[in-house]
Amino acid sequence: MALVTISGFPCSGKTTRAEQLKEYFESRLSAEGYNGPELIVALVDDDISHVPRSSYDTSALEKPARASLFSNVSRSLGTDTITIVDSANYIKGFRYQMYCAAREARVRVATIHVVAPPDICRERHEKRGECSYKPATFDNLIMRFEEPSSMVRWDSPLFTIPWDEEPPYEHIWDAIIKGDKRPPPAAVLQRNKPPPNTLQTLTATTQTIVTSLLSHVNSLPGSSTFPIPSPPAPSNGSLVLHLPARRVTLSEMQRLKRQYEGVQVKAQKSGGLAAAGNWTEGEVATGFVRFLEEIWETG
Ligand code: ADP
Ligand code: MG
Repeated sequence: MALVTISGFPCSGKTTRAEQLKEYFESRLSAEGYNGPELIVALVDDDISHVPRSSYDTSALEKPARASLFSNVSRSLGTDTITIVDSANYIKGFRYQMYCAAREARVRVATIHVVAPPDICRERHEKRGECSYKPATFDNLIMRFEEPSSMVRWDSPLFTIPWDEEPPYEHIWDAIIKGDKRPPPAAVLQRNKPPPNTLQTLTATTQTIVTSLLSHVNSLPGSSTFPIPSPPAPSNGSLVLHLPARRVTLSEMQRLKRQYEGVQVKAQKSGGLAAAGNWTEGEVATGFVRFLEEIWETG
């Protein structure tokens, strides 16, 4: 039925809000007069996904941790379930990935941004004592936080809950029970088989773009656009990537490349990318450029 993604700083109150929402949803589901489908409310969090707080110390540990959380989320999604994901969910691309999984599972989505000022979070964190983050990790999670935005489709509808306010329970309930259901991508609806070598084309094309982009920004720092060379672009000059104002880095590009590939591979497995036309070099290049611009749009 729905995916509810909770996002916020460490100790902002995510778990508290997740539990409040679970309780509220359950009370609505068992209330007299409720005549909708029978639903269960499932909480997916780091603990259930065997993700200790130390996973956030390094990106090498965090990657498999996120993968574990993601597979638990995917497994939980279904038309008879309201899945609440209680984790930092601070990476835009990760929220995008969960959104894609929700669309494929044909469930509604809502994002809850739990907001508390860093000082309050820090104070609570110090009080919590055991099972806390390393100080550097705590700071990092605040610094790297990519705030949800109602302007992008994968974070909306977005509900922002300040630490000193009550959640807008009814509005959230309406969004997950009656809200618009985003149709699954055309690729998922048309179960066509992709041609052979799709995966190689995907990874080789994204690699070519990442490599040429990095050498472009090295030789022309500060440029705001990057014309993708052909190949992989369909024809020379026809595909232009708009760059963010800051300089993109190798590690960022590697991460975005992996994220894009992850989403595409998942779509391929679930029925092929034929309808979305993401097979050929040119099509991969176009799709990757669109993905990067969408991610950077709000950053
Ligand atoms: P998170 O899951 O984001 O790490 P928690 O929900 O576990 O945060 O909350 C961290 C600490 O702050 C807990 O001790 C909790 O009792 C306290 N806390 C959470 N939300 C509030 C709130 N709205 N007002 C006061 N204290 C809160
Ligand atoms: Mg928590």
